[in-house]
Amino acid sequence: MTALPQPQPSPAAPSASPSNDAIIQKAKRHLLQNYKQQPVVLVRGQGSRVWDADGREYLDLLGGIATCALGHCHPEVVAAAKAQLDSLWHVSNVFYSQPQIDLAAQLTEWSGLPRAFFCNSGGEANEALLKLARKVMKDRGTPERYEVITFEKSFHGRTLATVTATGQAKYHAGFEPLPAGFTHVPYGDIDAVRRAVGPATAAILVEPIQGEGGVRAAPPGFLTALRALCDERGLLLFVDEVQTGMGRTGLPFGFMHEGILPDAISVAKALGNGLPIGAMLCREELGKSLTPGTHGSTFGGNLVAAAAANAVLRILRRPEVLQDVRAKGEHFLARARELQGRLPPGRIQAVRGQGLLLGLELDREVAPVIGLLREAGLLVNAAGERTVRFAPPFIVTREELDEGLAIVERVLATL
Ligand SMILES: *Cc1c(COP(=O)(O)O)cnc(C)c1O
Repeated sequence: MTALPQPQPSPAAPSASPSNDAIIQKAKRHLLQNYKQQPVVLVRGQGSRVWDADGREYLDLLGGIATCALGHCHPEVVAAAKAQLDSLWHVSNVFYSQPQIDLAAQLTEWSGLPRAFFCNSGGEANEALLKLARKVMKDRGTPERYEVITFEKSFHGRTLATVTATGQAKYHAGFEPLPAGFTHVPYGDIDAVRRAVGPATAAILVEPIQGEGGVRAAPPGFLTALRALCDERGLLLFVDEVQTGMGRTGLPFGFMHEGILPDAISVAKALGNGLPIGAMLCREELGKSLTPGTHGSTFGGNLVAAAAANAVLRILRRPEVLQDVRAKGEHFLARARELQGRLPPGRIQAVRGQGLLLGLELDREVAPVIGLLREAGLLVNAAGERTVRFAPPFIVTREELDEGLAIVERVLATL
């Protein structure tokens, strides 16, 4: 018997795998509709590139919003996670585990804050900060101090406490009554902070650059002034490094640009290069307040996520890596300013950013432009109403940054 020749499936669009449209139909039936999702299903990634279910390639200059800092499927991170998958996935935090301890050692050395608590997300890391503030003030004998000052246009998470810390009314609407103990003041305005400090103030929580708020950096000297104010009034200074940490701004953490040391910070997004893990890092004296039983998390510091994070840190701690982040950021800013000059005046209102956290503020609402950029093959997202945010992986090449800006130019020129 001779075998009949078999029809060969096209490698680009194998007939067995469902299309973007088919998968999205299913999503609309089953997923809670709480996100405004771009109509593509991403199925594969490599470095700064991803592919959708129809086989279409995209340049990914968003990296899961500042999360995949080493790009998709970085071989060293993949190998570390795979090795851990084959040995032990999870143990309760009532036991010790090696990857978590190694990660605590790496993170505390890198940040200068000697105590680490692990959780699973940025919101949870900030939640740990908020609980820490209250507990420290109780332990100091000043339980009347429980308020946290945060900033307008800030973003700190979606739990009830962290969304209340977030200084944007649109995230509060419908969830009132909000928990007590939060005051919002204009970002960068040290006099407003000074005026807001009262007998109930416990801490100040600040982002070095407001990511969600439109890639806006605090004015130079602001963190230094906050540090001095906190020292003067006996307050705790907390820095939300969920987006700016892990080398994103070209130094290990955003606060380092001002040479200050916060009392505690939150870290998440890029820590596990996409595996869910967050951390709260604090000074020795503060750490003493979270005694056994006061705080915890089942999955916090999960072995696979911690193994991946250890690989991430080993790479990021090579000195040339963050030097490269700074150089590529400068390259992007210079090219983006040239582009601003070539486009109709005012189309790009401002070019902002530090390291590889970058924003182009437009003269119009940005959401429809994000869709046009995606159709042209570029993945980025909106930060605030009018800013296109770029948070490319650190392994991005200058050519890829130029390619991304060329797509931006084509799209913005035709608006
Ligand atoms: C993303 C983000 C958070 C929230 O992190 P989740 O992991 O989504 O909970 C908090 N703060 C900042 C600055 C962020 O960018």
